[in-house]
Amino acid sequence: MRKLIFATLNQNKVQEVKAVFDGFSVVSLADLDFHQDIAETEDTFVGNALLKARHIFEVFKTPVFADDSGLEVLALDGAPGVYSARYAGEEKNHAKNNAKLLDALANEPNRLAQFRTVIAYIDAKTELTFEGIVKGTIAQQLSGSGGFGYDPLFIPKGYNKTFGELDNEVKLRLSHRSRAIAKLHDYLNSIT
Ligand code: IMP
Repeated sequence: MRKLIFATLNQNKVQEVKAVFDGFSVVSLADLDFHQDIAETEDTFVGNALLKARHIFEVFKTPVFADDSGLEVLALDGAPGVYSARYAGEEKNHAKNNAKLLDALANEPNRLAQFRTVIAYIDAKTELTFEGIVKGTIAQQLSGSGGFGYDPLFIPKGYNKTFGELDNEVKLRLSHRSRAIAKLHDYLNSIT
């Protein structure tokens, strides 16, 4: 089986990928005992995903992919975007981020938003990026306790419930991350 590093310390994401990547041995940074924090210093998803993947490729010289995601709100010119995790401060508190977002959209009729993931893949021959998007709207109030981050505020297009309320299986089917991962998976299968 081909070894592939997923440059993340987030075990939920690793489980998500392992569930769909048959034929590959996917290892996380925790599996490799690599706990160094890689600062996300770029101001685009592509920049941050590439930065993380390049860093890990330099260290392990093994095919690697890294992801960067966030929420883009149309009425806020794409904010919080790459700053989604730290929208309300460096403590990266989801409840505070959600409160700040509701505040920023108070009296705003345009609630259109999207989650976006960029995955950067690097091996000895290539550097590629794959994108996944899920479109939706921002609710007027928090609903549901499933998922994480902005999930209790995000209503995917075609539904009338938030990601926080919808079954995890539905979120997995629709999500920006799943879509980007599926593109990477298709690419990897096409080159074998
Ligand atoms: P990351 O790059 O995947 O770590 O995502 C950065 C931030 O974007 C997270 O801390 C969340 O605030 C937000 N985010 C990314 N993906 C999701 C999601 O699927 N649901 C809710 N929030 C998300």
